[in-house]
Amino acid sequence: MKIKEAKFICSNTRADLCPTTPLPEYAFIGRSNVGKSSLINMLTNYSKLAKTSSFPGKTQLINHFLINDEWYLVDLPGYGWAKVSKDSREAWRKMINYYLKSRPNLACVFVLIDSRLPAQKVDLDFIELLGTMEVPFVLIFTKTDKQSAPKTDANIAAFMQVLKETWEELPPFMKSSSESKEGREEILTFIEQTNDL
Ligand code: GDP
Repeated sequence: MKIKEAKFICSNTRADLCPTTPLPEYAFIGRSNVGKSSLINMLTNYSKLAKTSSFPGKTQLINHFLINDEWYLVDLPGYGWAKVSKDSREAWRKMINYYLKSRPNLACVFVLIDSRLPAQKVDLDFIELLGTMEVPFVLIFTKTDKQSAPKTDANIAAFMQVLKETWEELPPFMKSSSESKEGREEILTFIEQTNDL
């Protein structure tokens, strides 16, 4: 898919205030610092579309971007900040649960995982939540330029091994790097093909 245009539409704290135009929606989420903003900017070719590394104390927002007037790219607030209060964590959980339940055109959630780390509980918990809610998702292992390809593949295999303990069928996965642009074509083609765009 060629990105002709990427427009910021709105930021919301509540899913019921998000756009009602019935366009397919693709959401991106992951642990803080996983590289979500960098990936969104890399995918869209807009260097400042998503704001990188926002401070954890800031209001957590659901950001909608309209791509090629055809689909929404949604930047969801990340999880796993080390120093957030229990109240903020609970507010995040409620917001995301409601978002996942209330968006009928949500085609897929891309869950970003740092390819350099062993499986993290917060990521496994979030994947579990998606499974429970029957939301389609794809894993994206980020920052692959930071280590050798065999190391990335070994970490992904180890992650999948952990998932195998609870999942009968493993989810699809892709690899990405905002530096080398690995994954860009694969992710955009996936979105294009899922929706016949
Ligand atoms: P976010 O908090 O998930 O939105 O993460 P950011 O996109 O702000 O990235 C966090 C940090 O990781 C920043 O310093 C980025 O420059 C860096 N980063 C993100 N993606 C990559 C990547 O693919 N490769 C490398 N080398 N650094 C990355």
